[in-house]
Amino acid sequence: MTVSAPRKRESHIEPLKHYQMIIDGRPADSASGARIEMICPSDGQVFATIPRSNKEDINLAVAAARRAIDKGSWRHKTPADRGRILMNLSTLIAKHHEELSQLDARDVGKTIKSARNDVTVLSRYYEYYAGAADKTVGTTIPLGKGFTAMTFREPHGVIGAIIPWNSPTQMTGRTTAPALAMGNAIVLKAAEDACLSSIRIAELAIEAGLPPGVLNVVTGIGEEAGAALAAHKDVDFITFTGSPEIGTFVQKAAADHHAGVTLELGGKSPQIVFADANLEEALPVITNAIIANSGQICVAGSRLLVEESAWQKVTKAFAARFNSLITGPHHGDYDFGPLINQKQRDRVLQFIKRAKTRKTPMLAEGSIAPEAPPSGFYVPAILFGPVPTDSELGREEVFGPVLSIIPFKDESDAICIANDTEYGLGAGVWTQDGARALRVAHAVRSGQVYINAFGAGGGVELPFGGFKKSGHGREKGLEALQDFSTTKTIIINHG
Ligand code: ADP
Repeated sequence: MTVSAPRKRESHIEPLKHYQMIIDGRPADSASGARIEMICPSDGQVFATIPRSNKEDINLAVAAARRAIDKGSWRHKTPADRGRILMNLSTLIAKHHEELSQLDARDVGKTIKSARNDVTVLSRYYEYYAGAADKTVGTTIPLGKGFTAMTFREPHGVIGAIIPWNSPTQMTGRTTAPALAMGNAIVLKAAEDACLSSIRIAELAIEAGLPPGVLNVVTGIGEEAGAALAAHKDVDFITFTGSPEIGTFVQKAAADHHAGVTLELGGKSPQIVFADANLEEALPVITNAIIANSGQICVAGSRLLVEESAWQKVTKAFAARFNSLITGPHHGDYDFGPLINQKQRDRVLQFIKRAKTRKTPMLAEGSIAPEAPPSGFYVPAILFGPVPTDSELGREEVFGPVLSIIPFKDESDAICIANDTEYGLGAGVWTQDGARALRVAHAVRSGQVYINAFGAGGGVELPFGGFKKSGHGREKGLEALQDFSTTKTIIINHG
């Protein structure tokens, strides 16, 4: 993403595509006319522009969402009708699978294989919540003779969704599908670095039958558009995924107008490998958990905790694998793609440089494909170990393809190290001892714990969210329906 003046382009380069936002069911430019250039991470070249919206545009989008809730046909739709529209959207996404995948791969720099997987998961989000729309039941509460009390799930109203750039398709599905199933209207602020598929999804939603104003997608810079959305007094609830710093800012802004918030803020997820683990099965899964999306996923398994007695065997196997990993352009058949932008690439390279300066042993380094343009934002896969638990690499979220191996003595030591982090989003436990696996899973403080696995399908069905600095509230699964709605209790005195 850059906001500099448009550059002069060479004649052989394809023309820039100028995308529009979707506000009140129609394509919209920003009121100011300002635009942001979109850069493809694979070659560092500008390939599109998006509107740079500000407070004025956010006001229009929130007003459209409010109208859709208060006056539009949305509020008259039965839950089953809402489900049918979501199912139509799921089907339309499946129909446009390749188009959305290509768009996302170029925008984010992720491999086309990974983008295709994301779009499959996106379609699944709408399918899953389509089925759930008419199945959120309330309760009755015994008050004794003369009274009947019951609860209903009600939509919050207008939801502000602020999402990051690492997976615009999955993030759009994850936030909008359950919120729509519960009858909310949404203003989604997509990330300035990658957002094109979010716009396309909003267009498809209209085709699927979603009334105007129910799903608005705005683009722009975080401090302008994002901050205006978080602070907007007519937004009833905010869902945010991104960095802990901005999450704090968003929550404070929401507190000023008493809006509820769910935050998902990243992690430093441990993979705990005991000596009896099936290394053959663990190795590809653990590797994928740190190179998927070039390590730019909140739940990246960035700490590999290895039982000391298996240190030689495990580090040797991972070093061989990491030395063979290749990063290259999104359209090639590589293990992973470039990082999102120059800033993120420099940040990750600085982490690597500082670790080397501190003499942290580097066990392996993958390579960058010869066809990768030097103007792209590539960082090879890197394996460090042993990494001190109290070092920067052992504690900070790198958000890149860098895996830190940390030795542990026994089960209690493993739990202690796993929990020695400010974060608590995901964890993996690898052992053939079932009782130990469960003991460790219960003891690790994180929102999800996998045993002999990590990441399952798209995780659509699995409640997801953090402990500690990783955030609060739960998305995905049926629990998301609770977070995207609120309880109304009706009490009748009938004598
Ligand atoms: P990342 O480090 O992954 O880019 P950020 O937290 O910076 O994560 O961004 C996540 C989302 O939050 C993006 O859509 C971004 O535009 C938005 N954002 C950034 N700054 C602010 C802010 N001050 N207020 C609201 N949203 C913001």
